[in-house]
Amino acid sequence: MFNGILIEKDERGYRAGCQSLDEAQLPAGNVLVRVAYSTLNYKDGLAITGKGPVVRSFPMVPGIDLAGIVEQSDYPAIKPGDSVLLNGWGVGEKHWGGLAQKARLNGDWLIPLPEGLTHRQSMAIGTAGYTAMLAVIALEKNGVTPAHGKVLVTGANGGVGNFAVAFLTRLGFQVEASTGRQEEAEHLRQLGATSIIDRGLLDAPGRPLAKEQWAAAIDCVGSHTLANVCAGLQYQGTVAACGLAQGMDLPASVAPFILRGITLAGVDSVMRPPRDRIEAWRRVAALVDDELLSSISREIGLDEVIATAARLMDGKVRGRIIVDVNR
Ligand code: NDP
Repeated sequence: MFNGILIEKDERGYRAGCQSLDEAQLPAGNVLVRVAYSTLNYKDGLAITGKGPVVRSFPMVPGIDLAGIVEQSDYPAIKPGDSVLLNGWGVGEKHWGGLAQKARLNGDWLIPLPEGLTHRQSMAIGTAGYTAMLAVIALEKNGVTPAHGKVLVTGANGGVGNFAVAFLTRLGFQVEASTGRQEEAEHLRQLGATSIIDRGLLDAPGRPLAKEQWAAAIDCVGSHTLANVCAGLQYQGTVAACGLAQGMDLPASVAPFILRGITLAGVDSVMRPPRDRIEAWRRVAALVDDELLSSISREIGLDEVIATAARLMDGKVRGRIIVDVNR
């Protein structure tokens, strides 16, 4: 038996709770992992509270991220005792996820724990940090360098945004952070932002072309914000789009594309092939340290997950939540 969060949906309604589970209940898979740490992402919050249609089959153990030690393996490249990391692949949505002491998974989904990181550190980073690095790499692939000018990060006080600000700064970029939480301005400055703007400047319908302000951007917000970011990019600028915090729509004009040659680069972390994951995590491991991770994250136990998920949905949680599934 082991402990885990279980989401159920039946005639009694939608509910989630911490339960004792039987290993025999675990889904099919060729690798059994003893989970050390998981995280609580926005997507996990949606799954646990039922506020978004994240869970595709019930009952479900949520948790899109996990790090732990392999207990059993029928997968050739993975052996018992290996430290492994998982992000995405529909885990916690259609396959039981990381918010439990054990997980049975497909070996194709696992990558080795990046060198230099502990299980706990990798979960302080989680999908948020890994996605922020994928976005940075997308800008680099489009030729963006610090010499080109200022880079904007929208949704800067979210998990992806915090890491995007920190990574860009550590890579030598000048970063402007857009946020709705001015009370967190000092935290953003500590992460490296040199200027901070109110997200209200970007979230309403705007002009097809605006003043050229940014060489590049990482956008966590979508909707009018992304449209305004496109309109304000410098000639041949690039925006990496990775989120939809304001909305899934994109009410934009082609003007910045055909008159300024800008690039809109999409970022997906969920189905990313292993070589991209390994490269992104290698880059992340080289940039982070304990001081950065502890300024962005805090730890909770499994029995605090349900209450914290509700606070997350109410926008009352800043930064990253690490879940120690063994306490
Ligand atoms: P968080 O909830 O931690 O942060 C989202 C941030 O967006 C908030 O902190 C806030 O920033 C801003 N925001 C929220 N609501 C609005 C709004 N109505 N208008 C404008 N800004 C808003 O989420 P994450 O950082 O974990 O994820 C960011 C986005 O990226 C999410 O949409 C998430 O679904 C997506 N995502 C996508 C991935 C991919 O593979 N493409 C992977 C991971 C996440 P502030 O407080 O600074 O204003």
